[in-house]
Order: sequence, then structure tokens, then C-alpha cells
Amino acid sequence: MGKLPSAQELLEQLKLIAGPFAEYALRGRKKYVDLRLRQDQAVRSIYIRSADKIAKEIRRLKRTGAGSEMNMRYLASLRDSLKHNGIGESLQELLTKDIVKAVDAGSTYSLEVTMSQISKTKLVKQPLQRAFFRVNERAVEAIWARTQHGLHLSDRIWKHDQKYRMAMSEIIQDGVATGADPVETARQLEKYIRRGRKTLAVDYPEMMDRMGNRIPQDISYEALRLVRTETAAAFGEGTIAAASVSPSYTGMKWVISGSHPIPDICDDLANADHGLGKGVWPPGQEPPMPAHPNCLCVLISVHEDTDDFMKRLNEWTKDPKSHPDLEDWYKNVYSEVA
Ligand SMILES: [Zn+2]
Repeated sequence: MGKLPSAQELLEQLKLIAGPFAEYALRGRKKYVDLRLRQDQAVRSIYIRSADKIAKEIRRLKRTGAGSEMNMRYLASLRDSLKHNGIGESLQELLTKDIVKAVDAGSTYSLEVTMSQISKTKLVKQPLQRAFFRVNERAVEAIWARTQHGLHLSDRIWKHDQKYRMAMSEIIQDGVATGADPVETARQLEKYIRRGRKTLAVDYPEMMDRMGNRIPQDISYEALRLVRTETAAAFGEGTIAAASVSPSYTGMKWVISGSHPIPDICDDLANADHGLGKGVWPPGQEPPMPAHPNCLCVLISVHEDTDDFMKRLNEWTKDPKSHPDLEDWYKNVYSEVA
């Protein structure tokens, strides 16, 4: 399966699930896709900008008389630039924005569906809007609070900063050890960051023999993987959080992305049977996104049919005891002020 038809298939599926609310499903989907499409370039630019700055400094040092061969003076002068390379700060900044956007994209569908349903009643929208806002904020916090192997997201971001500094240092130190022309070392840094270790291995085979696997193949791609994973997690978190405050929410459907050539965990998630329809998970048991790195599957909330829901709302307005779930929602979600 090619990439395009599968993306198209996923859209068709979302439309089918959303029915009369297809427009909202597509709106949320678009926000998420646009966000993900921008990240590739954004992350790569962060690395290129930083490496180019270091390369530029090496050339400047040569011009200003640090020597025609890499030496300890270069190493000492570059120490500060390597330490404050900007990777950690820039990734943190990117993710801070993107997590908020991803949570918002995830919450879009539930919010729009619910607001559309509520607009047909006498209930005021504002308290509900506040409830959505509140859970969105909590979803963002939850993403930053997540730990993996005991590390928070900010620690994991920082590891990429460290890894980058190590790789850059390896190349610079190799230049010092072999007395390389500084211009050549600068070029190696620029090439490595743009095209990875393989390019260096072709252009500088001896250097690669010395360095082996001490520098990662594609260092900015590794950071991109982190960014993608956290964005997907934020989209999922936002989707689940928003659904939890919607009174018509009945379950969460795992929609598989077509780009799965071999069956994996996603197939199990999308085919799970909880008696709510294929791949629909009960409220409170929603599977977290993503199922694996680079997983493109999405969650979409399933809502009670609007006519049925309106009928229940009417009955509840007349007699709060007739629908305890709605009474519960009214007291604990709608009326909650904090
Ligand atoms: Zn998947």
C-alpha cells in the first residue's frame, strides 16, 4: 500500500465514523496532520542551524590565526559553543508549542460534537467550554509529567542535546588528533548533520574507521522520532481528555492507519471487541497513543446518536433521576467551577 491511498482511507474511515459530524472529524484531523508535516523540517532546521554555527566558528578561528591545522586551541575555543549548542532549548520550545497544538487537535472533535448537541438545548455553553479548557490544560501537563525509563520528557529532550554535543565533539576531536584542515572539519560537521554518518563514511572512510558507531547515523531523525511520539501522545491525551467531559461520549475508537504492511499491535487495538463496535474501547479503558514509534493510527470518540441523546436530555431536565449519568455529568463536569 502506498502512502497516499492509506491517508485517504483513514479520512474515509473517520468520515464514516463521524457521520453527521464528519466536518468536525476532518477539522481535527487536518490540525494534527498539518502539525506533523511541519515537524520534519522544523527539527532538521534546529540541528542544521546549530551545526552551521559551530562550523562557522571553526572557519573564523582559522581566519583569525588559530592555526592551519586543528589543534587544542580550537578545542578550547569551541568548548563553549558545544556546551550551549541550543539543541535542548530549541527542541523544548518546539515541543512546548506542538504539545498544546496536538492536544487542541485531539480535543476538536469531541468539543465540536458536544457543543453542537448542547446548542440544541437550553443549557448555557460557557461552563462546558470551561470544562474542555480545563481538561486540555491537564492533558498538556500530563504529557510533560510522563516518564519513560524513569525520565521525564524534559530529561529525554536533554539527552538529545547531550548526544549531539558528543557527536560534534567526536568529529572535532578527530580533526585535532589527525591535524586536519579546519575548513575540512567544518565541512564534515555540516555534511554529517545534513546527510548522516553514511555520507561521511563515503567521503572520509578512514575517519569513519576510527570513529565506528560512536556517532549516530542520523542524529536529527532520532530527535524527530521523539517529537513525533510526544505529539501523537498529546493528540491521544487531548482526545481522551475532551471525550471524558462530553455527556454523549460512549467509547473510543482506534482507527488504524493504512501504512501498516505487517500486522502489529495496532491491528489488535483496531479489532478489539468490547461489545461497543469494532475497535471501540470503553470510557476509562482507552488505549494510549501511539502504539509504537511513528505509529500513524488515531483515536476518535464515539458519541450517542444526537436524537437519542436529546431525548434523554429532555427526560433528565424534567426528572434528574431518570438519567443518573447525565445528572452526574451535570454536577461533576458542567457545574464544576474550579
Ligand atoms: Zn499504528
